[in-house]
Amino acid sequence: MRVTWTRDEGVWRLVFLLDPEDGTTGACTDGTPVELRTNSCHVHTGAGGGSPHPDLLALSAWTVVAPWTRRRVTFDRPISPGLAEALRTGWGVDAGPVGEDARSGARLAVSYSGGADSMAVAAMFPDAPFVHFQRVSHPRVPNRWTHYRAEVLADLARRSGRELHIVPSDLEFLLSRPRPGYPEHHAVTVGALLLADDLDLGGVALGYEMGSRWLDNGRQADRFASDNPMWATHGPWGRLYAAAGVPLVLPVGGVSEPVTMRMALGSDLAHLVRWCLRGDMSGPCQKCGKCLRKELILAAVEGRPLKTTLTAASVPARVWQQPPPYPGQETIEYGCARVPGIETTPFARAAEHLRATVESTRWMDRCYPPAIDETPEPWRGEVGAYMREHIGLMTADEQRQVEAWTAV
Ligand SMILES: [Zn+2]
Repeated sequence: MRVTWTRDEGVWRLVFLLDPEDGTTGACTDGTPVELRTNSCHVHTGAGGGSPHPDLLALSAWTVVAPWTRRRVTFDRPISPGLAEALRTGWGVDAGPVGEDARSGARLAVSYSGGADSMAVAAMFPDAPFVHFQRVSHPRVPNRWTHYRAEVLADLARRSGRELHIVPSDLEFLLSRPRPGYPEHHAVTVGALLLADDLDLGGVALGYEMGSRWLDNGRQADRFASDNPMWATHGPWGRLYAAAGVPLVLPVGGVSEPVTMRMALGSDLAHLVRWCLRGDMSGPCQKCGKCLRKELILAAVEGRPLKTTLTAASVPARVWQQPPPYPGQETIEYGCARVPGIETTPFARAAEHLRATVESTRWMDRCYPPAIDETPEPWRGEVGAYMREHIGLMTADEQRQVEAWTAV
């Protein structure tokens, strides 16, 4: 893979060329098959991000090209030996040229989407700048996803009153399969990476919660390994970000979605929380699958009946009429065990299958301590103190429930 970055009027353009051994089909780190549609994308950093350290450009590019690279990656600027080593040990690829000193920084940025999980992170770090990824159309790819209202999420982020850097990018349209999306989940951080020198960033915080980091419906056998590939501090991506001087930080990696929902609702930004990609400034659409799932969590956290016009026959509710496993099943168990009158909602069948109780799901109310232990310095102490003071830590028994958890 050969990678070139050019910049014109505040826009970085990434162009990449496949080597003979590379392919246009590949897999993202979580195993999702992805297919390449085009070989260029843009990242709008505006006046900032004019001359990032080459490791930051290389890492940004790697979040885009990793699924299609087989044996080597050639960047257009020399990278540090540490970054090349992290690519070699993490992916088995030769990376170069090498010949730059490593970089470092001091501040933590929050990759802020405006959803409950990233709002929970924002609540933990009230002085951290936000970097918001905004999806925009690609000049060479038709946008069949115009119902995604990325500009609404950006407007909501603007109302936060926090230091905010909105970074529009069309990189999701590089994919033709399964649909536009991040080639690697880590690509959401491209804005933070390209701005890292301007903002003196020494870390980037993401809203991945316990389900994403540790549970994964019980699928990955190595999800508790310290070098788990997706998000572990000592895994391939964790080591790569650390080598670029911007370690990945998952401040809510030890808590469940019901807990991040409580944290978001208790924060000064609560009126701006938004997980739906389809609603306008007046509110979420209340008709999509994501709205229905989050309404279950909200109702559980607020201890009230479900409010929805969707029925078991509605298309977004179809998944809940099937037997498990369900996506993010632990959260569905939590909701079904707590929402009054669940038997009259679109989740009735799921609740019958799951037979979850308040007692069987109580472990999701506390923080899983190994998530604190793996938080990179210098943020470990702050994350640990917050969790002990505001959330509480799991008992040894509850930790074992996390480790034994499986969706089937
Ligand atoms: Zn919606």
